[in-house]
Amino acid sequence: MTFFVVNVALPVPLRRTFDYLPQAGEGIESYPSGLCVRVQFAGQLLTGVVLHTATHTDVPANKLKAILATLEPKPLLGVEELQLAQWLSEYYHHSLGAVLELFLPAMIRRGSTLAEADVRSWRKVQEPSSMLKGSKQQALWVLFARQPLWAHSQLTAQGFTLAQMQKLQGLGLIQEELKLPIPYASPAPNPALMLNAQQQQALNALSASLGRFQPFLLEGITGSGKTEVYLRLIQAALDKGLQALVLVPEIGLTPQTVRRFQARFAVPVALLHSGLNDRERLQGWRQAKEGVARILIGTRSAIFTPMPELGLIIIDEEHDGSFKQQDGLRYNARDFAMVRARSNGIPIVLGSATPALETLHNALSGKYQHLTLQQRAGGAKPPSIKLHSMQNRPMIAGFSQAILPVMRDHLERNKQVLVFLNRRGYAPLVACQSCGWLAQCRYCDARMTLHQSPSRLQCHHCDYHNPVPPCCPKCQGALVDNGQGTEKVQEALRDLFPNVPIHRVDRDSISGKQAFDRFYEEVHKGEACILVGTQMLAKGHHFPDVTLVVILDADSGLFSHDFRGLEHSAQLIEQVAGRAGREQDPGEVWIQTLYAAHPMLNLLVDSGYHALALALLAERAVQGLPPYSRMAMLGSDSTEAQLARTLLQQVRALAEQHLKITYPKHSLAPVQLLGPSPAIMERRAGRFRFQLQFFSSDRQALHKLLYVLTQFLEAQKPNAKLRWHFDIDPMDIL
Ligand code: ADP
Ligand code: ZN
Ligand code: ZN
Repeated sequence: MTFFVVNVALPVPLRRTFDYLPQAGEGIESYPSGLCVRVQFAGQLLTGVVLHTATHTDVPANKLKAILATLEPKPLLGVEELQLAQWLSEYYHHSLGAVLELFLPAMIRRGSTLAEADVRSWRKVQEPSSMLKGSKQQALWVLFARQPLWAHSQLTAQGFTLAQMQKLQGLGLIQEELKLPIPYASPAPNPALMLNAQQQQALNALSASLGRFQPFLLEGITGSGKTEVYLRLIQAALDKGLQALVLVPEIGLTPQTVRRFQARFAVPVALLHSGLNDRERLQGWRQAKEGVARILIGTRSAIFTPMPELGLIIIDEEHDGSFKQQDGLRYNARDFAMVRARSNGIPIVLGSATPALETLHNALSGKYQHLTLQQRAGGAKPPSIKLHSMQNRPMIAGFSQAILPVMRDHLERNKQVLVFLNRRGYAPLVACQSCGWLAQCRYCDARMTLHQSPSRLQCHHCDYHNPVPPCCPKCQGALVDNGQGTEKVQEALRDLFPNVPIHRVDRDSISGKQAFDRFYEEVHKGEACILVGTQMLAKGHHFPDVTLVVILDADSGLFSHDFRGLEHSAQLIEQVAGRAGREQDPGEVWIQTLYAAHPMLNLLVDSGYHALALALLAERAVQGLPPYSRMAMLGSDSTEAQLARTLLQQVRALAEQHLKITYPKHSLAPVQLLGPSPAIMERRAGRFRFQLQFFSSDRQALHKLLYVLTQFLEAQKPNAKLRWHFDIDPMDIL
């Protein structure tokens, strides 16, 4: 037999692949690419992905180890996934093995097999025509007479064997089923909604593109019926025998969203989100990969799920920040979805009321087809929006005095009021009245937030929290809190409106999908109440009885250090405002601000998000910022500030040298460097953070430079105290 080695990608940070010997007696044909194998690496047992085989290796014979096991006889990843992973690895300058890891469910990475995803169950299909033979069979049948569906494990737990179940199956009495994470039922008949003209126009354009690559921006104001258009488009894809993938923001995947899809289609819908356990994720992944699930709805990482008949990708609320991963491989699921759609030759729909400037830019330049929905569906009117100046106004518990009677008025008409404040906790600042001491996090350059239930001081940037001291730890003076979070607003509202239920919605009060579900049901009873919450309340929710939205503090985003600050706060304001008046009763929105003359705020309120976005794009063009240039960032962090800074200084010197040699005739290098500079919050969770920024309008030149820098960084002696990472197309400036 000829000598050969198997080249394997392993989930390690090193940007290289590894050669292994085959298992004894196995030939080359046993190792197709995409096969998952178990190997020993640096004392660990890892799941790797076979890339190719070779008859030569640089590894000395005495160092070569053999593959220990093959996870599944067939490759779990196909050529398509391998190519996409290669693209990701090059674009994000990340290890191929670590990228491939994202394409596999956690249980596979730990060495489980697909069979472990099986949740077998048995369903009664008909009554026996005569007496069953054998007491065991009769006993088994008694169970099915009582209840038509049993999990396999429930039956074995009662002492029944597979053979007995198969006997009943042979008689045509019961049938084996593979249970999906969420089983599907026959849907209710389609609501007889007539699409309005704009919806119909959008749907026509979208459906016509099935079968070829075509990106779309579906820009529709809040409540304009985008979801309805997605549902019809998915139906068109299903009718053609295609699968559909729907990505939603992390907190957008509520049981209501899921139900809306399940209620519409008579096909299995698989879900993938962070609320599932590993086994459920393996099930969802497998159902999608094997084509059993025809629709997959998931949050960002669902974009890596293999789907053999994928015919359509929809990204709902495409502007949402949760599509960008903020650690490890810092990918943007929306951008990667675009690459995947192109490689599959299928349409991709980015939907939003407040598209990201990058997306809008692509739509305006004709790269994406731009579809718009400008009216609310079903006759509801867009809310009227008012900027309410707080300058020199009497305030009560953070509310302008003029707003309280308006709230009372809506509540008396049996309507609901939504109060938005994007700050959780009780108060963002605790200080000593006598010496000025401030409660600071021990590990971050950040203040501690006062929380009341349970009572504590909590850092919102790391896990650190401690009890609230009774007095100033420095001088024993009295402590006061300043500013307000959702807890304090809730408390104030209880005093102001003692007879009105007040629901608080933030990460502290609502944990888990069920809690949100309970809240949702409560609100949908339609009784007068006040909802106080953070951005958890903003995304895509339909609260039919909310007619007044009060935005307590529109100013925090106006003067951000991040060049995307205005864009993001405008999106948030528009989304929150969009919760008002979604049914017959018209809605109104009051925005409290100290800067009622701010031109951008006025543009947003008077002319809407789209007009503001155009103005912001014009600014970006002048400043040469994304989307008019490409950006990348190299971040370093260390327990010792000097280490982190020095590394980036070295990298900068190397970058300058590379640019000078590569582009000797350029007076201005094709890549501009900025930094190294400390992050805005220099110390976080005990580590000092620095960044080096890269700007370029030449993607090739930028990536060539980053490649050179990666080589240098990889060659550095590993230092446990020092870490670095690339962030390509960063979303948050540190
Ligand atoms: P979006 O996703 O743009 O926020 P939805 O699709 O959720 O909008 O629609 C908002 C509301 O309008 C929903 O209650 C939906 O059932 C309803 N709706 C959507 N399209 C129509 C239509 N063509 N006629 C009547 N009602 C509609
Ligand atoms: Zn003090
Ligand atoms: Zn902290």
